[in-house]
Amino acid sequence: MPTVRGNTATRLIASGGHEQVLFVGDGDVGLRAIIAIHSTALGPSLGGVRFWHYDDDEAALRDALRLSEAMTYKAAMAGLHQGGGKAVVLWDEPDRSRAPELLHALGRAIDGLGGRYLAAEDVGATTTDMDTLAEVTPWVTGVSESLGGSGDPSPVTAFGVLCAMRAALHAQFGKSDVRGRRVMVQGAGHVGAHLARLLAEEGAEVFVADRDPARATRVAADTGATVIDAEHALTTWCDVLAPCALGGVLTEELAPSLRCRVIVGAANNQLADRAADVAIARRGILVVPDFVASAGGIVNIAQEFTGYDRDRAYAETARIEDTTARVLEWARHDGVTPNQAALAMARRRIEEEGRGRRWRSGDPAAWTAGRPLTRLRG
Ligand code: NAD
Repeated sequence: MPTVRGNTATRLIASGGHEQVLFVGDGDVGLRAIIAIHSTALGPSLGGVRFWHYDDDEAALRDALRLSEAMTYKAAMAGLHQGGGKAVVLWDEPDRSRAPELLHALGRAIDGLGGRYLAAEDVGATTTDMDTLAEVTPWVTGVSESLGGSGDPSPVTAFGVLCAMRAALHAQFGKSDVRGRRVMVQGAGHVGAHLARLLAEEGAEVFVADRDPARATRVAADTGATVIDAEHALTTWCDVLAPCALGGVLTEELAPSLRCRVIVGAANNQLADRAADVAIARRGILVVPDFVASAGGIVNIAQEFTGYDRDRAYAETARIEDTTARVLEWARHDGVTPNQAALAMARRRIEEEGRGRRWRSGDPAAWTAGRPLTRLRG
């Protein structure tokens, strides 16, 4: 039985406007997971599988609900015909690998949703995990290229963050070039490492921090970046702060200590709450909504539906620069924060194109050229 207290679970699900939440438990293989589908108005919900330590079921549920909702807005802003979902697996040591039996049990639960939730990689997950899920369900993306998938999405995600950064630099300084800019990358994981490399190649002065110092040191050795103590990453003096670790890092309390002019990174749900958004905006710091900046990963994955093509994935991802510029212009024009502007834009698209729709297996979707989707990769 879930340990969520009283009626917390159903109340949380109902209040967030989610379509469906599935609790999964399998004692034989040690699996405890929650799959949340926020919206399928624009198409099947897609979102990563996160392996993470949660104190209890309530913390896991809150994370799944929050992350799946963000995926809805991310897909809407990226112009994709898909909705938002997320799976979280309660897993005490995210770096510890999973037994195939556990992944198969999760895969069967995903399969039961009939394509309304498409799995992908997220924090803690690997391409190998996706390949193992794919042994029992077709509804999984980000599988190895040898299996017809798009592989690790993080290089494309990092490229998308760079595109968003250019638009933000242009809005803040009148020049989109990253050359000579001081950029602090928080998190030297999959995306952070690729972003640091891209920035270094383009002549930025890169700083990198990770709570695992060995990772930061490795990225610094590869890119010529300077390692900063993880504790000081967010308050380091720089032009651009790029949060590429976990969400919730931008708080109202942090706002007075920030020493950057632009914040743009891959981490999902960077802003702890609305108060943080407003407090940071008041300081004249431009925060690019993470669900706009980090869309490269799902744009990349969406190419799997019609036959993966890496060049097309990069070309589509480059559009993030224009989208970011439009968001920042809307925000400036309406006197709201970029986050508020992007949310309004995403909700408007969902309302106009997807009002009242709930995707079911076999429904035609635009990215299948009007043909009913019954499985991925042919
Ligand atoms: P990852 O697990 O490979 O890397 C995260 C890194 O952050 C790890 O090295 C970890 O040690 C470090 N970290 C955690 N807490 C930290 C802290 N307080 N200070 C400094 N470092 C810390 O994950 P990733 O795939 O690189 O993703 C990074 C973020 O971007 C996540 O929030 C993820 O949800 C988001 N994201 C990733 C993708 C993708 O394509 N991988 C796409 C969209 C969004």
